[in-house]
Amino acid sequence: MTKVAIIGAGAVGAAIAYAAQIRGVCRQLALYDLNPQKVRAEVLDLNHGMQFTPMAQITGGDDLEVCRDADVVVITAGAKQHPGQTRLDLAAANVEMCRTLVPRLVDLAPAAHLLVVTNPVDVVTMAALKFSGLPANRVFGSGTVLDSSRLRFLIAQHTGVAVQNVHAYIAGEHGDSEVPLWSTATIGGIPVTDWDGANGRLDAATRTAIHERVVGAAYEIIAGKGATSLAIGLAVSRILEAVLKDENRVLPVSSMLDDVHGIGGVCLSMPSVVGRDGVEAVLPTPLGAGESDALHASAGAVAAVAKDLGL
Ligand code: NAD
Repeated sequence: MTKVAIIGAGAVGAAIAYAAQIRGVCRQLALYDLNPQKVRAEVLDLNHGMQFTPMAQITGGDDLEVCRDADVVVITAGAKQHPGQTRLDLAAANVEMCRTLVPRLVDLAPAAHLLVVTNPVDVVTMAALKFSGLPANRVFGSGTVLDSSRLRFLIAQHTGVAVQNVHAYIAGEHGDSEVPLWSTATIGGIPVTDWDGANGRLDAATRTAIHERVVGAAYEIIAGKGATSLAIGLAVSRILEAVLKDENRVLPVSSMLDDVHGIGGVCLSMPSVVGRDGVEAVLPTPLGAGESDALHASAGAVAAVAKDLGL
């Protein structure tokens, strides 16, 4: 029986639970939060919709015991961005949270994969990896899965093609230094750089504007509604399905790189094969002019924060 535990029943944790319930990702879903009223309310609200979704057992509380024997533990707890804050501003508090939380989770669910969503996700994934002692394939972050779907949405909007037929990845940090991999992006097999449709080409200026909108997306949503939640709920649900259904999906999750384009010792997103063993391979997706330098710079930004925090 597959079990997912979600740490943190805030905007993001609740949205992940809701998406996972609707998509029938697992048979058991457990929510844990320090705030007993909040987690109880979310569990009740989810259970009241069960008639209309695939069957699952949804439980939760403020006792970490609810996570026992989970197959995947999703970490969403912690400080979140307030208007004007970058993701890296949250690093110290959320890394400290992992220092006590993660070893307890490993004791309770020794076979689990840890899927980190808490920001700054690359740095917090490094902390979870270090404090868990688990092998690198079992500790990964949602990384740029959400950023890549934002990128695809904007390309789809510009070209008038369904988002599902756009293949494009953002690599690097889930944050301001992230890198759109334009050189390998395609629409129906056509490189986006060759695309010439009714709305015109995806020329350098258009690509820059799209990249800027992806980077600014979270700031725009946080200013408007206080948190990004619905799309990350679906994105994490997709990652959970890839693991629990052993799908071997290519997803740009964040994991500890070991000499990928010369980058190692830092958690960062690259297109990766995700299945029952977690991150089964990090793909050496070719990088175009400028992309390699940008990826190294992104790795440097994450590594500097991690180093400051002793990771
Ligand atoms: P939120 O404030 O709504 O929820 C956080 C929850 O964590 C709260 O309910 C709080 O009680 C709980 N909490 C805090 N410390 C805890 C602990 N030690 N143990 C258990 N529960 C604890 O925040 P949110 O909007 O849900 O965002 C959560 C995190 O997800 C933030 O760090 C945010 O930046 C991040 N996030 C990541 C992505 C991504 O793509 N990786 C996208 C959106 C948000």
